Amino acid sequence: MKKNIAVLEGDGIGPEIMREGLKVLDAIARKHGHSFTYIPAPFGAKAYFDYGHPFPEQTKGICDGADAVMKGPVGLALSEMNRIPTEMSPEPAALLPLRKRYETYANYRPVFLPKSCADFSPLKPDRIGEGLDILMMRELVGGIYFGEKIEGKETKMQYARDVSDYTAEQIERFAHVCFNEARQRNGQLTSVHKANVLATSRFWNQLFESISVKYPDVNLKSMLVDNVAYQLSVNPTQFNGVMALDNMQGDILTDQAGGILGSLGLMPSACLNLQTGKGYYEPAHGSAPDIAGQNIANPYSMIGSVALMLEKSFGLGQESRDVWAALTNVFAEGYRTKELSRNTPLEKVLSTSQFGDKVAEKIMAS
Ligand code: NAD
Repeated sequence: MKKNIAVLEGDGIGPEIMREGLKVLDAIARKHGHSFTYIPAPFGAKAYFDYGHPFPEQTKGICDGADAVMKGPVGLALSEMNRIPTEMSPEPAALLPLRKRYETYANYRPVFLPKSCADFSPLKPDRIGEGLDILMMRELVGGIYFGEKIEGKETKMQYARDVSDYTAEQIERFAHVCFNEARQRNGQLTSVHKANVLATSRFWNQLFESISVKYPDVNLKSMLVDNVAYQLSVNPTQFNGVMALDNMQGDILTDQAGGILGSLGLMPSACLNLQTGKGYYEPAHGSAPDIAGQNIANPYSMIGSVALMLEKSFGLGQESRDVWAALTNVFAEGYRTKELSRNTPLEKVLSTSQFGDKVAEKIMAS
């Protein structure tokens, strides 16, 4: 198979973890006889400094023409954000426009921790039980992140306003993806809401309820978002299956899930439009400026995103399974990245590049 992949390495740890993602993809190409061509394109804060815009026109063209887009995290340390005018900062001027351009409404964020890796988690091992296997689905192009914003000059800072809108079409197309994913797993779907306060949540619940009739094999449970935040910390395995989250709840609770796993570096993601097939793949975390340039970031999030791309954009199920198996085997042999290390005698701490080498090695040996 021949595929062209746009590569947006981004900021902070982006280039370091992207290098390992491509290393693993090269191993897959060698092993299975595929040809992947990488087309680098500027995106994020560095693109703003180099080209005057965080999502330059040339990058849009490269992404439009590619079979899939791999993206590293973007953004500067919060203390440095004043180097970029608000309207040019990477989230509003690059990340959200990328999502809107391809209408990637379905964001897949797997939260996976086998029992054998329970020690990664700050929770006691009995809370991890037989392991975590949750697919957090985040609606990615609607809600408060995309609604009208009023601030600054217009209000002379007397007030600010963020509008949250959800149309029936936005909720329904997302709900069908969630039900279908639940059907392919253990049949459990938890829909998260704040219907005691928010109109958009009441609408969300109404549509999930009516769609559930078409999926009698899926058990739909609805839960208030504040309770979900609590339950995730005390009894996360009850969510094994699929969780459906709106844009903002998904942003926040998937970071909490990263904390429960023991590191945001264990959080890959896929952002897809299932109608057009357009998609891009990114770690669920940010650019981690606190550890950038030190070769200590965990590249699992980028490598896992590669596995998702192989499966979802290229239909290469075996190749995707090879990547997941290699990741699991590296941990099973006691290898850790720095942030997962507990300084026990048996563990072996790897740098970012050594971790990528090990995963590629496992793929070639399998
Ligand atoms: P962050 O997600 O970058 O980092 C939070 C913590 O997690 C840090 O301690 C960091 O070191 C750690 N971490 C994250 N990824 C890791 C990895 N792969 N391996 C090991 N540790 C890892 O959050 P932040 O510091 O609040 O944000 C930094 C920048 O990223 C900001 O500019 C923010 O706006 C941006 N951001 C971008 C995206 C995106 O591109 N999709 C998402 C979230 C935040």
